[in-house]
Amino acid sequence: MRNSELMRALTKDGSAMIVAADTSAVVQKAHEIHGLSKTMTAALGRALTAASMMGSLLKEEKQSVTLRFCGDGPAGTICCVSDWRGNVRGYADHPQAELPPNAKGKLDVGGAVGRGPMYVLRDLGQDMPYVGVASIVSGEIAEDVTNYFASSEQTPSVCALGVLVHPDFNCRAAGGFLVQLLPYADPQVVEQIEKNIETIESVSRMVDGGMRPRDLIDTVFAGLEYDVLDEAQIGYVCPCSRERYARALLSLGKKELRRLVDEAEPVETLCSFCGKKYVFELPEVRQMLEEAKS
Ligand SMILES: [Zn+2]
Repeated sequence: MRNSELMRALTKDGSAMIVAADTSAVVQKAHEIHGLSKTMTAALGRALTAASMMGSLLKEEKQSVTLRFCGDGPAGTICCVSDWRGNVRGYADHPQAELPPNAKGKLDVGGAVGRGPMYVLRDLGQDMPYVGVASIVSGEIAEDVTNYFASSEQTPSVCALGVLVHPDFNCRAAGGFLVQLLPYADPQVVEQIEKNIETIESVSRMVDGGMRPRDLIDTVFAGLEYDVLDEAQIGYVCPCSRERYARALLSLGKKELRRLVDEAEPVETLCSFCGKKYVFELPEVRQMLEEAKS
């Protein structure tokens, strides 16, 4: 499978910006880590693709964006985090949730996600993260992200996402694009982009057919002049480490650490994003308790 990558471009007149991504390898990795069902490969795959593209819009290193769907469907909460380059990780509460196909004969991602709130949390390296909220409108992810930008951030956007899943649940192709209009966008440019997007039937089929992010941009910006801003290889990346979990344990405080020591068993932590397990033996936990006391 080809490396995952994304590319950003801006129309020469400054009316519209686009991020386009091929996330096939990223979604396949998520499938392997979480043992995702067919429907959940599509659901988490779409959310990972959206989060990655939103991450690429961040301005500085160390910033991150979290996209969280808290729907009432069988998938439970779906949470994806991207760094500023678009490297992404994610999980769903119920990775094996499965539903029959929807009325159109497609994977029922909307049914799996359900309805409820969705949150976008941007950690910009300041004291408080920026948090935006919107209602999940269909649970199909792309429509929800489009609605989020319109209703919560007043940014006219079009998000398209697609994940093609093999009969054995592996990811065959995944990708998407996110177009955002800039203030004072030229109505003619907007009309052209709308026309171009209408011709697109399926992003996942385009990626499956060999189209790269550059080709997706060529399709959406057809008839318009544009500049490529940047391109990047992206991956399914989890920055967790033993040290991070040790800090998290220490931050539990005296009372909770005392309880863990009294239980007299090694403490096991499991990373929800990558499945890595970190074990802290009893003497280590005892030492943490001493540290917390002082
Ligand atoms: Zn991890």
